[in-house]
Amino acid sequence: KLLDSLEKESFNVALKERQEKLKGTESVKALQAFREKLPAFRMKEGFLNSVSENQVLVVSGETGCGKTTQLPQFILEEEIASLRGADCNIICTQPRRISAISVASRISAERGESIGESVGYQIRLESKRSDQTRLLFCTTGVLLRRLIEDPNLTNVSHLLVDEIHERGMNEDFLLIILRDLLPRRPDLRLILMSATINADMFSTYFGNAPTIHILGFTFPVAELFLEDVLEKSRYSIKSSDSGNYQGSSKGRRRDSESKKDDLTTVFEDVDINFHYKSYSSATRRSLEAWSGAQIDLDLVEATIEHICRREGDGAILVFLTGWDEISKLLEKMNGNILLGDSSKFLILPLHGSMPTVNQREIFDRPPPNKRKIVLATNIAESSITIDDVVYVVDCGKAKETSYDALNKVACLLPSWISKASAHQRRGRAGRVQAGVCYRLYPKVIYDAFPQYQLPEIIRTPLQELCLHIKSLQVGSIGSFLAKALQPPDALAVENAIELLKTIGALDEMEGLTPLGRHLCTLPVDPNIGKMLLIGTIFQCVNPALTIAAALAYRSPFVLPLSRKEEADDAKRSFAGDSCSDHIALLKAYEGYRDAKRCGNEKDFCWQNFLSPVTLRMMEDMRNQFLDLLSDIGFVDKSRPNAYNQYSNDMEMITAVLCAGLYPNVVQCKRRGKRTAFYTKELGKVDIHPGSVNARVNIFELPYLVYSEKVKTTSVYIRDSTNISDYALLMFGGNLIPSKTGEGIEMLGGYLHFSASKNVLELIQRFRGEVDKLLNR
Ligand code: ADP
Ligand code: MG
Repeated sequence: KLLDSLEKESFNVALKERQEKLKGTESVKALQAFREKLPAFRMKEGFLNSVSENQVLVVSGETGCGKTTQLPQFILEEEIASLRGADCNIICTQPRRISAISVASRISAERGESIGESVGYQIRLESKRSDQTRLLFCTTGVLLRRLIEDPNLTNVSHLLVDEIHERGMNEDFLLIILRDLLPRRPDLRLILMSATINADMFSTYFGNAPTIHILGFTFPVAELFLEDVLEKSRYSIKSSDSGNYQGSSKGRRRDSESKKDDLTTVFEDVDINFHYKSYSSATRRSLEAWSGAQIDLDLVEATIEHICRREGDGAILVFLTGWDEISKLLEKMNGNILLGDSSKFLILPLHGSMPTVNQREIFDRPPPNKRKIVLATNIAESSITIDDVVYVVDCGKAKETSYDALNKVACLLPSWISKASAHQRRGRAGRVQAGVCYRLYPKVIYDAFPQYQLPEIIRTPLQELCLHIKSLQVGSIGSFLAKALQPPDALAVENAIELLKTIGALDEMEGLTPLGRHLCTLPVDPNIGKMLLIGTIFQCVNPALTIAAALAYRSPFVLPLSRKEEADDAKRSFAGDSCSDHIALLKAYEGYRDAKRCGNEKDFCWQNFLSPVTLRMMEDMRNQFLDLLSDIGFVDKSRPNAYNQYSNDMEMITAVLCAGLYPNVVQCKRRGKRTAFYTKELGKVDIHPGSVNARVNIFELPYLVYSEKVKTTSVYIRDSTNISDYALLMFGGNLIPSKTGEGIEMLGGYLHFSASKNVLELIQRFRGEVDKLLNR
């Protein structure tokens, strides 16, 4: 023991000496000057005092003031300087992978170290950390998984939970756990970090924890609504609506007395009058009526062009709703005479699931005479700060998921953002000089925005969360979730529990089954996890791994706007005559893997409209899933060929899909020359136009299983696979002998089979065996 403490002492001294030494290097000094200008720097003393005096502390401050990069670093520096380095173990959670990496690398640079030394990160499938690591950035999901193994967060000295104002499901979930944990860990320090909005709510939740507010400094940002953009382009509003609009303060001339100058030409192709009028009538018809409407990319493009032609230097940050729009706009801009000139414009996409390669470019100043234009989703709203942004173009929307508990369907629609988000977006300009925010909607629309967005926990299906709660052993799901900042709807909780029972993860008493325990280990939706397990049992683990990776991450198929037909054809040719999007995914991946062996995967991806980045990610995920399957004893890695006897058997693979995706089943019913599709809850549904099954008129087999059902303009099933009734009989949920005694009813009588008593018995026995294997 004495030796231990002596060793620790000398270790502490060594850490301190190293920190001092690094501080003297030129690069650290240069960044130190930058750090000292951040608003957070002025609060350093007060912050550190509050941390040592309080178990919980809430810190709020405008985005970019230095919360994420500075506050954890202050603690680290202080602990090392006070010779407590050895026992210091700081964790800071981030909602997104991309910010965990970018922040860890930034702080490492500020400290003059390489990433993975005293500062590291850990995200799913990727980590850079070492024995020396004292400050770890991880995704909230990674910390939640750690809590299963280590419910007391042993050895963690400080925990910082970042971006809590976003009200992500994981963060809300984590806060419930932490509030229960604090009394058991009186020495643990918890720091909650939030943008300026509603910090009080979090303080209240933690028994009136003290709050520190970091006052920021930014340059003024002018705000232009659509009507001001109209004015700027000297368009005149001719309609009778024109008298009604309210909003901006400047007196504007609506008549055409002012001569059109050449600004107009920028907007030539865009009928802004149309937009303005339609938006005004939208408020009359309520905001919701317009929520589904697409963003007009012509208007966005024209606005960017206007800025580039007419306004001063400075980067432009454009907020769009998703990858689709970003890639469409990129394509449009590349074809634009002005903006397509890559010697003058550096156009960068920024999206949450983007690879990390072109990170630097986003933050770095562009070369002289080049303008940086970043096309982003709301990831740029608060977790990533690009300093040199002078112009913000805000389309006013974000893709928001919601959950219709009554019909058990997830909805994904672009909808209007909240006032809080609009404020955040605007604040992204004006960090280095005065800026302008172009809102491509009128003020009347803005006025009708809700104050805050609804928290994610009350607008998402909850099965993965409920399974996680069970694995934490914190009592009943219902009473645990009732402790949330804003508890989810009881019906949504009930649906989740019912689903978990249906797939056998929970027993009738809501207890975790051995299968449920296995599913907790797999960081995917419980249905996909079950497919993996069944895939190993029925010896087609490779296809199961591939399909699971694509479903858990995203489809490797890209959709280039201009060559959509060809892309659809490529996808269909992978599917062959299987009537299955899942088989198409599988064949595409296998083709990529073969091409890679010959070194021509680039050409292969290009010709078949596949994303090499997604495919590489899928490769990594497959390996991770395989490791996890081996950890829980489903795969013996020393016998790599033992699990693939049926990997080329399409019937077997579709049966495995059925076993995994059940109860996501629709019935195919012939209607003349076409087929109609029915679910139990919603009646008739449609096949998503992006599916290989979208143009199939007649299906040979009577059912489709699907991985996702979403309500957009109508209810669509996304990826689907045509399956036989045998697959459903063998693998699909519970059998109930039918009332007449000669058949089986499933899904509450919605599916019906006739079979003899002996056959029924055989099937029951088979099912019993499979259950045993799943629950071993
Ligand atoms: P907050 O968390 O309060 O929003 P941050 O700590 O993320 O603020 O950022 C503080 C400042 O550090 C920002 O103004 C930004 O310019 C700079 N910064 C953050 N991350 C990076 C990075 N990866 N590269 C360069 N500068 C960065
Ligand atoms: Mg931050």
